[in-house]
Amino acid sequence: MTAQRFYFSHLECSDTGARVEADRPHNLSPAGKPLLARYDLLRARGEIDRDEIAARPGGFWKWRELLPVRDDEHVIRLGEADTPLVELDGAAAAIGAKGRVLVKDEGRLPTGSFKARGLALAVAMARSFGLTRLAMPTNGNAGAALSAYAARAGMQSWSFCPADTPDVNVREIALHGGRVYRVNGLIHECGALVAAGKQRMGWFDVSTLKEPYRIEGKKTMGLELAAQLGWRLPDAIFYPTGGGTGLIGMWKAFSEMQRLGWIGDERPKMFAVQAAGCAPIVRAFEDGADHAEEWRGARTFAAGIRVPKAIGDFLILRAVRESGGAALAVSDAHIQAARTLCGARDGLLLCPEGAATLAALERAIAGGLIEKDAGVVLFNCGSGLKYPMPAAGELLDRNAEIDWDAI
Ligand SMILES: *Cc1c(COP(=O)(O)O)cnc(C)c1O
Repeated sequence: MTAQRFYFSHLECSDTGARVEADRPHNLSPAGKPLLARYDLLRARGEIDRDEIAARPGGFWKWRELLPVRDDEHVIRLGEADTPLVELDGAAAAIGAKGRVLVKDEGRLPTGSFKARGLALAVAMARSFGLTRLAMPTNGNAGAALSAYAARAGMQSWSFCPADTPDVNVREIALHGGRVYRVNGLIHECGALVAAGKQRMGWFDVSTLKEPYRIEGKKTMGLELAAQLGWRLPDAIFYPTGGGTGLIGMWKAFSEMQRLGWIGDERPKMFAVQAAGCAPIVRAFEDGADHAEEWRGARTFAAGIRVPKAIGDFLILRAVRESGGAALAVSDAHIQAARTLCGARDGLLLCPEGAATLAALERAIAGGLIEKDAGVVLFNCGSGLKYPMPAAGELLDRNAEIDWDAI
């Protein structure tokens, strides 16, 4: 692809709207808020064709005209592909859904989670700026993606995880050549460690939303989804919300697509799904607040959404409210039950965060927040195989008499 099909123009403070030039690495805006990438969409509108782009191979990298990476030499590839929309049948019926329920299965991406989308972009941009030392706090999947894309680009990475992060994630990071530490604290406390070591260690901080390009990678979920559905968005989207990067990113994608004339002004209801043991966005939503207070004593086995404080809180809340959706909390027991249900009825092993969206759909239908026959998309953000699973597999002594009736 040639450089004239490049439309990224500058960064903008998500709070004040102040313009920031994108000619060097940035973290937060001068006002201390996330920076958003802006494109010359007016020019793009006359020059690019949605169907030509959608037909390309290469997964999320196909959307280059709507991404900030200028030169091909900075793109990092690990076999990205579009993730499938898997229709639920038995599980959907069991929770009272009468419309089409699709799971966007992000576990098929490199490193087994949608963190690949954001980190591929962040690492590619860091590479374009000549950075070589990247660090961040992570509940596991982000570190796995960071270490993989950094390794591929010949860069070094440091990941700081809460001590109880699933083993498989921590070991995966190490096998990608990343430095990884278990910290006796939660993710925002790991983030404070990165901030404290930044100067001394010469790190660039790639924490979500403290760096402007992870959101551009996550935005591709909205582009890809629209293309897969024939440029018609679903009635509702259920998104497991930690830092909220994906929800904010998709909302941004929808408005960019509208400005390009790819879709109209219709929008899905956006449901931000959190675990009852860590639900700062739900509490703020219910209180009618613009910002979310830190959640104390966060507890849930859905590690990816155990985020007590999100810097993009106001952006998540704004998108949810503008869409006519809601923020919903579901208990760990309900998440477990939804994971079991989906596996047994539909043969699809969800990650706990993905299972939370199925549980939330059940609540939304029961509470009348959406029509029973609404067309919905649930995000299964990671492979179910990356998580601890309940014990199974009774021992069978092949030398003893087998009780066939019990089998
Ligand atoms: C990171 C993560 C989330 C939360 O994603 P955000 O876009 O940061 O809110 C949810 N589930 C899994 C499995 C994750 O890794």
